Amino acid sequence: MKVNQVELVISAVRPEQYPGDILPEFALAGRSNVGKSSFINKMIGRKSMARISSKPGKTQTLNFYKIEETLYYVDVPGYGFAKVSKTEREAWGKMIETYITSREQLRAVILIVDLRHAPTKDDVMMYDFLKHHGLPCIVIATKADKIPKGKWQKHLKVTKETLNMDSEDDLIMFSSETGLGKDKAWDAIKSYYK
Ligand code: GDP
Repeated sequence: MKVNQVELVISAVRPEQYPGDILPEFALAGRSNVGKSSFINKMIGRKSMARISSKPGKTQTLNFYKIEETLYYVDVPGYGFAKVSKTEREAWGKMIETYITSREQLRAVILIVDLRHAPTKDDVMMYDFLKHHGLPCIVIATKADKIPKGKWQKHLKVTKETLNMDSEDDLIMFSSETGLGKDKAWDAIKSYYK
């Protein structure tokens, strides 16, 4: 998909702040520094999209980006920061849980993991949480350019097995450097609203 129009509509914490329109939504989740912003920028063909800092200690919000009047990407603050306090972690968990369990137009969650390493405990927890709530998940294994092609299949297998992935969920190898997987990722997203 060629994207011309991207708009950060709102940074929300509570449901009454979510956008009022009913476009399909795709939440983006992943641990901090995994390559979530690079993924979205590659998908929409931008160098850098407006970004609200999600560093620990700053306000954690759900950022609703409207793409081409067609769909929303909902950027979820990254997890796995050791420095975040228990109170902050709980607030984060509550915000995500409320959104994920109550938002009807949420079609799927795009979970970004690092292809180089087995998914972390936090990745597994996030995946289990989504499955517990019956949400489809598109798993994007990014940074593929950092490992040799001959090892891709082996790493994909580790990703799939560590997450104990549902056979209905897509697992897509990706690179924000080379654009590998971009079309497949768009196809997977589109399959949830066409
Ligand atoms: P975020 O915190 O999850 O939003 O992570 P960023 O998108 O800011 O990426 C974290 C770091 O990983 C940055 O230095 C990126 O340049 C790098 N990075 C992200 N995706 C890729 C990728 O596909 N390939 C390579 N080689 N580096 C990447």
